[in-house]
Amino acid sequence: MKTCVIGGGLMGLALARRFARDGHTVTVLERAEQLGGLATWHDFGGFYWDRFYHVILPSDRHLIAFVDELGLTNHLEWQRTYTGFFVDDRMHSISSNLEFLRFPLLSLMSKARLAWTMLYCSRIDDWKSLEGVTVEDFLVRVSGRETYDKLWKPLLLAKLGPNYKRVSAVFIWSYIKRLFSARDKSASAEHLGHVNGGYKLIFEKLQADIAAAGGTIRGGVNVTAIRPQTGGGLTVSQDDFDEAFDQVVCTSPVSVLRQIAAQELVDVHGDREDVEYLGVVCVVIVSKAALVPYYVVNIADESIPFTGMIGMSTVINTKNTGGRYLTYLPKYVLSTDAELRRSDREIEQEFLAGVRKMLPNFDMSQIESVHVNRAFKVQPLQVLGYSSLVPQVKTKHKDFYVLNTSQFVNATLNNNEVIGAVNRFYDDYRQVSQQKAA
Ligand SMILES: Cc1cc2nc3c(=O)[nH]c(=O)nc-3n(C[C@H](O)[C@H](O)[C@H](O)COP(=O)(O)OP(=O)(O)OC[C@H]3O[C@@H](n4cnc5c(N)ncnc54)[C@H](O)[C@@H]3O)c2cc1C
Repeated sequence: MKTCVIGGGLMGLALARRFARDGHTVTVLERAEQLGGLATWHDFGGFYWDRFYHVILPSDRHLIAFVDELGLTNHLEWQRTYTGFFVDDRMHSISSNLEFLRFPLLSLMSKARLAWTMLYCSRIDDWKSLEGVTVEDFLVRVSGRETYDKLWKPLLLAKLGPNYKRVSAVFIWSYIKRLFSARDKSASAEHLGHVNGGYKLIFEKLQADIAAAGGTIRGGVNVTAIRPQTGGGLTVSQDDFDEAFDQVVCTSPVSVLRQIAAQELVDVHGDREDVEYLGVVCVVIVSKAALVPYYVVNIADESIPFTGMIGMSTVINTKNTGGRYLTYLPKYVLSTDAELRRSDREIEQEFLAGVRKMLPNFDMSQIESVHVNRAFKVQPLQVLGYSSLVPQVKTKHKDFYVLNTSQFVNATLNNNEVIGAVNRFYDDYRQVSQQKAA
């Protein structure tokens, strides 16, 4: 069976590997020259690491099993990590229960309400009931105004930028469920993991497995149209070139699917203008000394131009990064925001001024290089009633399939969800194929 997978991100490649190992003649078509999509790597000068920061949580069971399936478990490493909080020109560590109890900004009552919020959210199963409430109203009601203003609001700003006001409570519910599972319950400590070699190693292994099973991966190929053929199968147009396949799986976002799939293949209900996406500007600092001892610093100071500080080298071994330290400075904005179109130089100067303000004692001459990365469509903004706005995709052709992250309605975007979705899709696919063959 000649199978085409459109998209060479983690979803497309994990799926292509499954098909190839089951005997399909697989071809992956990826628009970018380099594989990996949002999880791709970047040349930081002397070493490669993920373009955007990625960590693995102890609860990422699909992803951890997948790393094992790739034979990379011996590259998986875990680190105890720490969380910082920057407010009123001071950095606070809130990495243990004791530090949290000593955190001067919140009264004891507010701290108790925060602990209650975690417990309360972890017990909610009916996420749909949260879709009609803004995250702000929900957190003020459950945690109280003081905890909201001093703790939750900076966190929402870090994750969503100023758009947090329009987001529903489902966001914080899925965030708490995922993030707080990273805590080792016995030690009340947070542990995060990574694969030595980064996602580059994962993609190289995927590429090797697909090639070993007879598959082909082509980068720099922009798919412009998918049409049905008379008598079965599909034609995939790549710029000026047409190719025939027995079946096609498309992993690109719904906005791309609408443009490239013929009407006879798929019904997409819902107006795409309704779904707004978040993009990210992410400055990466390569330095000879660590900027902070925290994996994440939440920032409660609106004069700082970025929305969080990610001390990546508190998780990854500096063996991976030529002995250098990596710090990511993300700023989440709407995909239409002018911020995403500013020059690298302007962004770099502004963000470095923010670093000086936050860390006046850090010797800036330790910084070796600064890299400005951008992603325009990271994830949909989960506004009120988001699940009813998500375009409903229904394929109408027996040889055409769609699987992508645009359909995630009650989860944050992460690779555990991606691999879980690939597993479910492939199990269903195999079951239906076996029924047809019987
Ligand atoms: C700043 C940031 C931080 C993150 N942190 C984490 C983290 O800590 N942990 C975690 O698990 N996840 C994290 N993620 C999420 C993770 O990167 C995504 O879950 C994952 O990359 C999604 O993979 P995908 O294959 O579904 O989509 P994508 O990576 O978007 O891949 C889709 C691919 O399809 C290709 N394509 C689209 N249209 C066409 C076309 N017409 N023709 C050919 N090719 C096409 C695109 O070029 C792209 O390569 C983070 C993401 C970002 C941006």
